[in-house]
Amino acid sequence: MAMLKTILGNLLRPSRTRAPADMPDVPTVYRGALAHDAARCTACGTCAFVCAPKAISFTQDPGVSVSWHFFIGQCSFCGLCAQNCPTQAISLDAEVPTGMNSAAGDGLRLESIVRLQPCTRCGAAHVPLPDAAIAALWGVEEAERGYCPDCRRWAASARLRSAFIPAAAEEVHHER
Ligand code: SF4
Ligand code: SF4
Repeated sequence: MAMLKTILGNLLRPSRTRAPADMPDVPTVYRGALAHDAARCTACGTCAFVCAPKAISFTQDPGVSVSWHFFIGQCSFCGLCAQNCPTQAISLDAEVPTGMNSAAGDGLRLESIVRLQPCTRCGAAHVPLPDAAIAALWGVEEAERGYCPDCRRWAASARLRSAFIPAAAEEVHHER
């Protein structure tokens, strides 16, 4: 009898399963879908270094591009990659992760390609840095924005020399 009462009670009660529209809002601090912005990425490797389960990796097409790879199957959504990325190229959005732009077609991998660009001074292929990163690291010399790291080092060295030994800096400029 008791069992019948329970069954009847369950049948007459409205559904307790929430429809999608009734679901509570995802908290803003929720670490969900991971996104990567290739235009901000400097391929520094920090994200892969701090990722304990090795969910992030890189491959290279020498002289052409660096590819940033993410495998959701190894991700613990700790957020350390986004927290430590110096240019905020990674974000973990407050959304449940869904299918990704997987080159493998399994929806579990994300691939983001950082295209190399030729140095405007020597022509060497290098990862272009976001303007804000160049300004923070090297100042705002407009002519040096397209330089590769070697040429930026050379330019910084030349400026340093001209500040301390003007005559020697002139020689460096002529050498190059
Ligand atoms: S995503 Fe950020 S931390 Fe990772 S390689 Fe790019 S710039 Fe570095
Ligand atoms: S959220 Fe954590 S586990 Fe996932 S890729 Fe980033 S560092 Fe690795």
